[in-house]
Amino acid sequence: MRDAKPSHRIIPPAIERREPGCFDYKGPIQVTDGLPEPWYATGLKFTCTQCGNCCGGAPGYVWLDEAESAAMAAHLEMSIEQFAKKHTRDGGRGRRSLREKRNGDCEFLRTDPDGKKRCGIYEVRPLQCRTWPFWQSNVQHESDWVIASRSCPGMNKGQHHPLPVIQAALLKNHQAGLRV
Ligand code: SF4
Repeated sequence: MRDAKPSHRIIPPAIERREPGCFDYKGPIQVTDGLPEPWYATGLKFTCTQCGNCCGGAPGYVWLDEAESAAMAAHLEMSIEQFAKKHTRDGGRGRRSLREKRNGDCEFLRTDPDGKKRCGIYEVRPLQCRTWPFWQSNVQHESDWVIASRSCPGMNKGQHHPLPVIQAALLKNHQAGLRV
């Protein structure tokens, strides 16, 4: 998933990218005590429809850290150096982002015979993609969620994600320094 405010992608250098969502983050759960309940205290619904909106169509960034780059390189049976040269680009301030096709699609976004858009490196997709749509930029205000849901048909449908899961995704992105 790309980060691209105000919808999905971000705008350089503030944007990032998301991938065909399929949120499956299973990191540590941490609930913040002592703060007012957020507007999404009862949880949020999301199940990816694999439309591909979030990973294509307009320029964006998918940030990678070293461990994620190494995991992707191993998955693709390439050296880290080969992977960096072939599949990443300079995102400024020492950060690397996945390359895009000329049409703006993520290089790893593919269309299967059933018409579904799928991530070609789904198993090793970066945290930014794993945590969509539970990004700070999407849940800061309920209106942000509403705006994001206009381009992501998976939001407000399907699986219910309770508050601790949402908070875990937010925390993980924060700890990773992802401004999404
Ligand atoms: S449903 Fe949402 S998360 Fe899934 S591919 Fe479409 S825009 Fe991306």
